[in-house]
Amino acid sequence: MRALTFLASRFVAGDNAEDAVDAVCELNRLGIKATLDFLGEDCESEAQAEAATLEYESLLDSIHKARLDCNVSLKLTQFGMNLDTGLAESNLIRVVTKAESLGNFVRVDMESSAYTQGTLDLFKRVFLEHKNCGVVVQSSLRRTAADVAELNALGARVRLCKGAYKEPASAAFQEKALVNKSYDESAAALLKDGTYPGLATHDEARIAEAIRFARENGVAADRFEFQMLYGLRPKRWRELVADGWNMRVYVPYGTHWLPYFTRRIRERKENWMFVLKNLAGG
Ligand SMILES: Cc1cc2nc3c(=O)[nH]c(=O)nc-3n(C[C@H](O)[C@H](O)[C@H](O)COP(=O)(O)OP(=O)(O)OC[C@H]3O[C@@H](n4cnc5c(N)ncnc54)[C@H](O)[C@@H]3O)c2cc1C
Repeated sequence: MRALTFLASRFVAGDNAEDAVDAVCELNRLGIKATLDFLGEDCESEAQAEAATLEYESLLDSIHKARLDCNVSLKLTQFGMNLDTGLAESNLIRVVTKAESLGNFVRVDMESSAYTQGTLDLFKRVFLEHKNCGVVVQSSLRRTAADVAELNALGARVRLCKGAYKEPASAAFQEKALVNKSYDESAAALLKDGTYPGLATHDEARIAEAIRFARENGVAADRFEFQMLYGLRPKRWRELVADGWNMRVYVPYGTHWLPYFTRRIRERKENWMFVLKNLAGG
């Protein structure tokens, strides 16, 4: 277990908020923005959802106190959506209201396609009253072009990613080329008509296409940001900042890292090789 904890530390900033705040201070020093994620999903009780909500409220205070360029990202099943949508909604409103009072922003991560409609419906209800929140869409899903058009029309801030969950063919493109095509098309729609979109990817071809589109269509560098995950492509974060682009790193922390870690290992051969190499090396 200790070896696994060591391996996870490549992708996770630490066990607690203090570790995470230190990691964000270092990123901010390099001109890189951050979003903090208190790891957790699929909560098992109302008490767990309450604990996560309290953690985010306190985290927002810590971010404010340390004057960080940093918002927060959360998952609705961590707030109880798998138990009761009303519970997740009231917990989300508490965190969004707290963020509002501190001039900060809350990103609602997207989970598996079983939760897509529920997440978007809940998000839209909260967004009507609180503009300091945004949501995520996944280019792997067949529905995403329509969701992007609707969220653009609402003026909501959207993060675009490929999607980290294994999905059935009925819901999602199975061929990488189609996921990439969908990514580029949604990125273009967000750059053209969106509200400060976040383009979350480590894929150089997707980044290059977004830069080409922005340049050719006169989309200024301050109208959007690139986003990457803590531990992945740190050199590229600094290069993008040096080239004048906004860059935000997603920084997870906490002890509930196994599902997050497993998704990172599954999606890239090199991450899996990193695990094998370290385990073999003792
Ligand atoms: C900030 C952020 C937030 C996210 N939020 C969510 C969310 O809310 N919901 C969700 O489902 N998913 C989320 N994800 C995960 C995302 O959906 C993908 O699973 C993950 O980012 C891998 O897809 P990719 O676009 O990076 O490219 P991939 O398809 O994994 O990789 C494509 C290519 O990119 C290049 N590449 C990738 N990684 C590296 C590397 N480390 N070094 C060098 N080259 C590399 C390689 O050329 C590779 O072939 C998020 C990702 C990010 C970055």
